[in-house]
Amino acid sequence: MTPRIEIIDLNYQGSPGLIGSFLIFGPDGHILVESGPASCLPSMKAGLESHGLSPGDIDFLFLTHIHLDHAGAAGWWAQRGATVCVHEIGAPHLIDPSRLIQSATRIYGERMDTLWGEILAAPAENVRAVADGEVVEAAGLELRAIYTPGHASHHHAWRLGDLAFVGDSMGIRGGSIPWLDLPAPPPEFNVEIWKASLDKLRAEKLTTIYRTHFGPRSDVADELHRIQRLIERSAAEVKSMLDQGVERDKMIERYAQWMLGVAVEDGADPEVFLGEDKLNPRHMSVDGIARYWKKKGQPS
Ligand SMILES: [Zn+2]
Repeated sequence: MTPRIEIIDLNYQGSPGLIGSFLIFGPDGHILVESGPASCLPSMKAGLESHGLSPGDIDFLFLTHIHLDHAGAAGWWAQRGATVCVHEIGAPHLIDPSRLIQSATRIYGERMDTLWGEILAAPAENVRAVADGEVVEAAGLELRAIYTPGHASHHHAWRLGDLAFVGDSMGIRGGSIPWLDLPAPPPEFNVEIWKASLDKLRAEKLTTIYRTHFGPRSDVADELHRIQRLIERSAAEVKSMLDQGVERDKMIERYAQWMLGVAVEDGADPEVFLGEDKLNPRHMSVDGIARYWKKKGQPS
């Protein structure tokens, strides 16, 4: 039987429908999937309260990966005694977040604190490093890790019964970004690796997926097909600009225009739906995809 699952909208930067966290009511306790950033803790606490809970009621925190929009508050939860389950590559960076903070500061500079809040170290005894395929017993439930790199090397989807929390592995769609959008940040975006992860998810025959950005969907086979197409098309788009020697600024502008076209194809009205700038800025994906092609040694 599927347990009760509630979505908590973290109202990232004051906008609904960008980052969600999932609250699972297990027979023996409560689980959160994704902590979101520490800057969203007030929304998180209000969300828990609306379900009659407080932070002390959370026994487990499962993270799909350690990017700050998913896991920035993980240390805060671990310090309060929650067991944090995360891919083995991500675990050391929760225990000692100095490298995480350093690389994020390089990107976000003085906006760091406003965007993400305080990034606290997780006590090692509360961090559980989980390998691909491992089953974790939590709150009377069993969640299985499905290693799904391509967006990030430290990415797990978490399967519970016939559904899975897929993090960013199936892209962004729902809430304030109702079209399918591709988060392709550097340095780990990789077309082949991501496609292999989609094959793994396909083999799982899931009935429902929960995206952190944003919410559940049950047309899983279609969505897998669509994200695969978008990965291929986005990569080809950037490749052709690299081949033409287009400057970075111009590339970002053209890519943004192109993605807008994709969103409109999806039936989105760009006047009504904004939000990708806050969550998935275009320069990030252009840099991520360009880096992927350069690593591949193309163009020559
Ligand atoms: Zn991410």
